[in-house]
Amino acid sequence: MAGSAAENNAICITRLHLWCYSSKLEKFQAQDILKNMGRNPKFEALKASGNLPSPKGVALQVIRLTQKGDVSSQEIAHAIKTDPALSGRIIKVANALISYQNRPVASLVDAVTMLGLNTVRQLVLGLSLVEGNRDGACRKFDYQNFWGCSLLTAIAAQHLVLKSNIGSPEEIFVLGLIVQIGRLALASSNPQEYEAILEKVAAGDAGLAELEFAGFGLNHNQVTRELLAEWGMPVLFQDIALHFEEPDFAGFQEGSRDWRLLNVLHVANFLALVCLAQESQRRKMITKLMLLATRLGVEADELTVLGDKVVKEWHEWGKLFGIHSVKVPSFAELLEAVPLAPEIVDVGMLPAGSVASYKLKILLVDDDRAILLLLQTLLTQAGHTVVTARNGVQALRSVEESMPQLIITDWVMPEMDGIEFCKVLRQNPAWRNIYLFIVTAQESTDRLVEAFEAGADDYLNKPINFKVMGARLRAAQRVVQLQEDLEFDRQQLRKFAAELAASNQRLQQLALTDALTELPNRRYANEQLDRQWAMAERSGRPLSCMMVDIDHFKRINDTYGHKVGDDVLKQVANLLRLSARKQDTVCRFGGEEFLVVCPESQPDQAFQYAERLRQSIAASDIHSFVDANFHLTVSIGVANKKPGLLNVEMLLKLADQRLYEAKEGGRNKTVGD
Ligand code: GH3
Ligand code: MG
Ligand code: MG
Repeated sequence: MAGSAAENNAICITRLHLWCYSSKLEKFQAQDILKNMGRNPKFEALKASGNLPSPKGVALQVIRLTQKGDVSSQEIAHAIKTDPALSGRIIKVANALISYQNRPVASLVDAVTMLGLNTVRQLVLGLSLVEGNRDGACRKFDYQNFWGCSLLTAIAAQHLVLKSNIGSPEEIFVLGLIVQIGRLALASSNPQEYEAILEKVAAGDAGLAELEFAGFGLNHNQVTRELLAEWGMPVLFQDIALHFEEPDFAGFQEGSRDWRLLNVLHVANFLALVCLAQESQRRKMITKLMLLATRLGVEADELTVLGDKVVKEWHEWGKLFGIHSVKVPSFAELLEAVPLAPEIVDVGMLPAGSVASYKLKILLVDDDRAILLLLQTLLTQAGHTVVTARNGVQALRSVEESMPQLIITDWVMPEMDGIEFCKVLRQNPAWRNIYLFIVTAQESTDRLVEAFEAGADDYLNKPINFKVMGARLRAAQRVVQLQEDLEFDRQQLRKFAAELAASNQRLQQLALTDALTELPNRRYANEQLDRQWAMAERSGRPLSCMMVDIDHFKRINDTYGHKVGDDVLKQVANLLRLSARKQDTVCRFGGEEFLVVCPESQPDQAFQYAERLRQSIAASDIHSFVDANFHLTVSIGVANKKPGLLNVEMLLKLADQRLYEAKEGGRNKTVGD
């Protein structure tokens, strides 16, 4: 027994070395492969107990032959020829697979030469697996659907690899075909147990992988990995098989070639699932597919073309393989019907931390409707408010209507492209602060300067990497927030300045107003007199002033109290204000003294005016509320600007003298020129 184990290991090592040297994936090293030599004991148990799928007959022979280092194309072709059905298929498949090379394959030797030993070996393996496992004992397992899905995955993976040029399309085709073989293996080797598991999954009791693990000690992806190892497939393929359903957990370096191959399988398989899904599920899944495809740089438009091509080829290959295919609506149709609901994208699809604390109003500009929907869904999910436009012209209208805080615009668009839009936008001072991302194809990074000169704040590379986009959005959020804080501070400052100006004005008014009577005070009176004096000097027009003093006011205070005295002062002030002409200014000059400044008045007019004032006060009923017997009167001294009076002081002094004369003359009198 010990001998046979050693022998087995030796065979394995030889086989692995062969892989290392013959595989087109040159990065594999013997070390890597040898690390994976340890067999999973659970798998060994599974192998012992059940009927795992394995290559038979010619396939087995071909695999053994290719394990020999020096096998020729003729030898392989000779072995395959013993199975005419397989021979025919290999030629057909070779033609289908390498049709892009435009060199028809006529013979088996041609096929082997053109495909290469590895691919032929894998192809024979794949075909033999399909052939030997069209049906099985597990009644709940849909073998037709399984192979339909596998074939779709294979074709989609082949096209995705062709697009990105990261591996051999033929090898990836075979990997796609058998990447799910673990499920079939479990179903066929343990039909009853697997039936029970599938029933539980259908009832929603638990996940498939979880139940498989509970039942067999390993899940279908682990089984696939073991089988691929068993059949001598490259370690990378084994790893991809293990992780293709959940690529983010594989620990592959993002953007690396391995990571991209892993995602090719993931996207291809998801595309297959979309095709085979129920009508109602399909529309939800297509958005996720769009999002996944962008990881590989495949945009929505390309995805539409690629998806339709895959389905078309699926029908053709179906006939070749004898695999049943179903009718699928065109991808363009599917995309048109994508609903706008944000819930169509799993939260798990969002880059970590993209759910922003500071919500933005975002304008998305792209002529590709699918990209718009995708980004809108993602950003709405992250809590932002999103509006969309299909070109620069629409975008400008939208900016006017909704004043976004951030714009993400495509570069190449009909009518008005991203650069032109950006230039026009920046011409409006109100729009200068809107943060703008321009989306640009990677190869045009040298044109970035042009974008920044047009007024872009940042750029995003196409295909959009959502993690990078999330990080850049957060940076943009910080800028927008800072800008808005700054604007808020600026507005506060403006408000404070306005308030300060108003309160200064109020203070100034207070400083020039008498608090009791609300008439201008003595300071104002002096200023006004100075102004009017200067104007009269310039124009030669007349200027008069009158000093009005209440007679025996002290008696009011003494007899009725200070409060009554105040009321009388206010009433006299009111009366003077009401009787004043438009050009006159009435001021409280002192305790119970008022000054009236009268520009444009000839001396006699001023005198008459003073007399009218004196009489109206004497006739007023101000006294009545004080005492019916009390008679309130005023004495007035009028002074007019005339030669000999050199300044305001002299004018005031004259008015004061005349007031004194009026008092001396018995009060309730006016003295003037
Ligand atoms: P005359 O006819 O000679 O002008 O006599 P008079 O009593 O009016 O004049 P006098 O200058 O002797 O008295 C003025 C009084 O006015 C003295 C002061 O207490 C009073 N007075 C001045 N300002 C106010 C005020 O704001 N409120 C009150 N209630 N009294 C005031
Ligand atoms: Mg008085
Ligand atoms: Mg007085």
